[in-house]
Amino acid sequence: MISRLADQNICTSTNHHINKSSHQFMNHPLHQFRFCPKCGSSQFAENNEKSKKCAACGFVYYFNSSAAVVAVIKNAEGEILVARRAKEPAKGTLDLPGGFIDPYETAEEAVRREVGEETTLHVVSSEYLFSIPNIYVYSGFEVHTVDLFFRCIVDDFHDLHPHDDVSELQFITPDKLSPADFGLTSIRQGVEKLLREYKHTKRPHRN
Ligand SMILES: [Zn+2]
Repeated sequence: MISRLADQNICTSTNHHINKSSHQFMNHPLHQFRFCPKCGSSQFAENNEKSKKCAACGFVYYFNSSAAVVAVIKNAEGEILVARRAKEPAKGTLDLPGGFIDPYETAEEAVRREVGEETTLHVVSSEYLFSIPNIYVYSGFEVHTVDLFFRCIVDDFHDLHPHDDVSELQFITPDKLSPADFGLTSIRQGVEKLLREYKHTKRPHRN
């Protein structure tokens, strides 16, 4: 299983998305692709901000974001399930369960599969929340991603065990969650967003 998502060294923006102005200073997404993947020609040149075109054979390759999923799981007490990353990038920092969507898989299938692989829990249902774009460096290559956050319903937590690229699992009450403890940029931004919404919805009930 490929671990996933952001690279805090590249994306240091505290905004909730990679804005267009910072994007203009970044490398072309295919800057490491020096040769045409179809004919091998070195005349594989930038076509526009997200594609390269081969002058020898005419092949055009567009670099699109890789889709990934993130699971927001709460127990009956309203605590959020938080994982600790077993692998780089951001090894040892907090994370939410999730990973890349496989070819031919729906996002709902992916979040159910990833939660099963990383926690052994069974997702009964899921609901799309929001998305955050990011850059994740894997094998020295900058993978542009869009991370889709899902609220996942799990009704049985007895089988909770960390697996795969997760070393530890714990439930943390939203009041004690600290976004700074999350090493991956998109997850940290997602947790900040969830906490803002949590505080927003909590206040009227307490007043
Ligand atoms: Zn070519």
